[in-house]
Amino acid sequence: EKEKELAKKKETSATKPKSKINIQEELERKANKPLLSLIVIGHVDSGKSTTIGRLLYDLGIVDSRTLHKITRDAELAGKGSFSLAWLMDQTPEERSRGVTIDIVQTQFETAKMRFAVIDSPGHRDYVPQMINGITQADVAVVIIDASSDLIFEASNVNNHSISSDASPSEIAKGQTFEQLTIARNMGIQRVLIVVNKMDVIGWDQDRFKLIEESLTTYLVETLSFSENELSFVPASGFKGDNIVKKSDQCPWYKESLTLFQYLEMMNEESHRTFEQMTSDANDPFVLTITDVTSGSSVDSTKKTDQLIVHGRVNSGVLQPGESVKLWPSGETAQVDSVVTTISQISALAKKNTSGTSTRVNEKITVAGEFVEIKLRKIELPDAICIGDVATKITSSSGKDGNVSCCQKLKCELRMFGLSRPVLEGTPFVLFRGNVSYAARLSAIEWVETKVTNDDGTVKLKKNKKRKHLSSFQRARVIIETEKPVPIVELSAVEKASENEDGLHGIDKLKRIVLRKEGMTVGAGKIVSSV
Ligand code: GDP
Repeated sequence: EKEKELAKKKETSATKPKSKINIQEELERKANKPLLSLIVIGHVDSGKSTTIGRLLYDLGIVDSRTLHKITRDAELAGKGSFSLAWLMDQTPEERSRGVTIDIVQTQFETAKMRFAVIDSPGHRDYVPQMINGITQADVAVVIIDASSDLIFEASNVNNHSISSDASPSEIAKGQTFEQLTIARNMGIQRVLIVVNKMDVIGWDQDRFKLIEESLTTYLVETLSFSENELSFVPASGFKGDNIVKKSDQCPWYKESLTLFQYLEMMNEESHRTFEQMTSDANDPFVLTITDVTSGSSVDSTKKTDQLIVHGRVNSGVLQPGESVKLWPSGETAQVDSVVTTISQISALAKKNTSGTSTRVNEKITVAGEFVEIKLRKIELPDAICIGDVATKITSSSGKDGNVSCCQKLKCELRMFGLSRPVLEGTPFVLFRGNVSYAARLSAIEWVETKVTNDDGTVKLKKNKKRKHLSSFQRARVIIETEKPVPIVELSAVEKASENEDGLHGIDKLKRIVLRKEGMTVGAGKIVSSV
């Protein structure tokens, strides 16, 4: 019986888009409004909410009444829980299954561009949520409190897996660096550092320089960031200096660019042209599901064949009417609608209200977009979980996103600072995309070690006899997971496209982070299934 069922599922064929659209026109429209997704990281109290609040206020996206309300609510709730979520009137939706996501994503658009702002909890207990946020971001905006003496002894921080009995100042230091280490390992290259609270230190140029220099050294030497991908802005989120409006407090700041100007620049840099988008449209459609909500919110116990999945499109395009396959369940479904949500300056300014966002029914969705996809004709909606992967069912062979679900992964890792070596057999938590899996280090294939030749030169050698991993080593290992992990078969995907850049979203699916007992022990890439 089961076999019959499986056979039936395999037979599920491609379905046509609901309406015939001019794809070129749609792609052109999207190419003209490029989307940049940024994650805001930084220690609690560094001024993340204040700075983003100021950004949205000065752009006219939230009004002063809302900003006041937020401040008041924040005071009432106790400052610690002040979240960017409040800025955009987001109410946490009921999550119907899987892990709860504590990151908030807000989209807004200006005349020229779209931005998605991802808030990450600064607190150390929330690193898993932060990893989730990073997997959805293109660039990182780091907020540093210039007035705090905890933050910038960056060059002295060599071990960022700081133990839980570390002093508060060490944790504060380690926190931002752990986040940056993870961001780097998750493929984020471009970082904007907002040196905030400059008003508190009287716009002290020397201090700004010190922070800029020590952080640059640290990020370049320890995390191999390239210097020209790091930018620093002296700012006051509270007073609004160099957020949207240029500050007259720092004539010494040569670059003279505001936070918002940098965001526009970064959006421009990562912008895919109409020609590139046309070629990206040939990539197989892949979406990682970051949330699942039921189609009918009235009665969750009632059986329904509908479901809404949320996520960021990794690659390819999808239109309402087409059909998708969901992995690892093997369930299939037809796409009823595709919705994006955005807060527009113009619309809001007119109504003089805020938190009103526009829901757009999309005719097509493309790589990089955050979407809500309403699915119907699913046999077992309960089988769909957060972290699942959706691919399009196409009639032409070869272009299907080819997914395999496996419990043994060959991975290349870079270890973080470890308090003790990691042995074969060690259990840990594997983060991939927005989900975590119970996992075990099942075998070590090789560890890169330094060998000094007779002439004194140092060479890197792949040592195949090692049975443990130590701090800062590079290694190839086999990891076993408790549950199957859906992996996009990279060879098929890569063959399908000659355009590596366009597959950036697929690359994100390869990235993993390993944690053990609340500490990040390593990060790297899935090479293949075993
Ligand atoms: P978050 O935890 O990183 O989101 O930090 P908040 O935005 O909640 O800010 C923490 C505290 O720092 C609040 O009391 C803010 O008013 C204050 N603050 C934030 N940015 C600035 C700034 O640029 N200048 C000054 N003087 N205070 C700031």
